[in-house]
Amino acid sequence: MVPVFRAKGIGVDFSVPDELSLFVESVRRFREKELMPLEQDFLRAGRLDPVVRTALEETARKQGFWALEVPEEHGGQGLGALAACLVAEELFKHPAMFEFGGSPEPVLYHAGPEQRERYLQPIVEGAKRCCYAFTEPGGGSDLAAIRTTATRDGNSWVINGTKTFISGAERADFVIVFATTDRELGARGVTCFLVDKGTPGFQLSRPIPTMGDDWEPYELSFEHCVVPDGQRLGDVGKGWSLAEDQLTHGRLKIAAYQLGIAQRCIDIAVEWAKNRVTWGKPLATRQAVQWMLADSVTELEAARMMVYRAAWLYDERGSVGREAFMAKLFATEMAQRVTDRCLQILGGLGYSRELPIQSFYRQVRLWRIGHGTAEIHRWMIARDLLGVSARD
Ligand SMILES: Cc1cc2nc3c(=O)[nH]c(=O)nc-3n(C[C@H](O)[C@H](O)[C@H](O)COP(=O)(O)OP(=O)(O)OC[C@H]3O[C@@H](n4cnc5c(N)ncnc54)[C@H](O)[C@@H]3O)c2cc1C
Repeated sequence: MVPVFRAKGIGVDFSVPDELSLFVESVRRFREKELMPLEQDFLRAGRLDPVVRTALEETARKQGFWALEVPEEHGGQGLGALAACLVAEELFKHPAMFEFGGSPEPVLYHAGPEQRERYLQPIVEGAKRCCYAFTEPGGGSDLAAIRTTATRDGNSWVINGTKTFISGAERADFVIVFATTDRELGARGVTCFLVDKGTPGFQLSRPIPTMGDDWEPYELSFEHCVVPDGQRLGDVGKGWSLAEDQLTHGRLKIAAYQLGIAQRCIDIAVEWAKNRVTWGKPLATRQAVQWMLADSVTELEAARMMVYRAAWLYDERGSVGREAFMAKLFATEMAQRVTDRCLQILGGLGYSRELPIQSFYRQVRLWRIGHGTAEIHRWMIARDLLGVSARD
């Protein structure tokens, strides 16, 4: 089983606690029984029917795979970051990007009592979904440069602007919108709002087709969209600091997806290399193929250590900084190399839609961009190392 860092005496114990291993094993069974039979249809269609996705979530829920990451005080199962990463790793061995439901964006844990009842609890109960909207046509990396404005009008706010590349917008009942309430203050002038679908002035303007299977984010427009002050999440100007924990959480999970993706591709390539014969010998006997596999499994193992350690640090301290950036950076670039090598080992079959490698290959390209690009991750790591700020 996969290792975890646990201090034991003066050494380090690389083992997963038994109860967590058993839990991950049950997730593996779920993947094999419920998800794998859908793989060929997914690969052919390039998407999972939303009705099937919802039914899968319901099946998962009946089996207890629900609200796993939600703290117990909010009615969830309170699994930590490490457990969430292990679950994500297991599920992402399937290309449909299926995740268990009931866990909202962590920024919602900052909701006040009324907001909890209206927005957080329905998600935990499976009655609502949400998505989050930072990115704008003018740029996604520099969040301090947000142009969408929220202007106070008595006891309400008027939101104007455009958000783009918003995932899950079609299925969401409400959007967590980051808007500037004071442009002069940059990041310290960003405030967070909860905007219900159907609010006048808010609409999904267009889907944005992408190179990924089943990944069609939306552009959203806000034109004189009025929301009451009760739908402001957190204090004015604190949107960015509320989002920080959410971004860390996402970083860890995305890094964990790469582990599952790379493992599945290596498993397929190993099997193929043992069986495919050219010039009278299996590919597995050729050094060129051996080295591609050796490099892949070595890099996967290094990424695994980084991801688990960053998640473990998060669970131990309640936060993690540079290690989470490093884990996502390394794991996403690792997955790009590994999917490419594995596709190469499979030759034409790797490029075909009969196998998931090509789907993974396209999917992993996103993760070097989404949730912070590789360049911004390098910049954040260097800033932490050098002790310089964004404005230096
Ligand atoms: C499929 C998909 C789903 C997404 N889902 C969501 C979502 O649900 N919600 C959401 O808010 N956003 C979402 N995004 C947006 C995503 O987070 C952004 O695309 C990402 O943060 C990069 O922003 P950008 O595309 O505007 O690129 P830019 O910020 O314009 O950057 C362009 C390029 O310049 C580089 N660059 C920028 N600044 C610097 C610098 N200072 N130094 C060096 N290089 C730099 C970047 O690394 C990048 O390579 C999604 C994107 C995609 C593709």
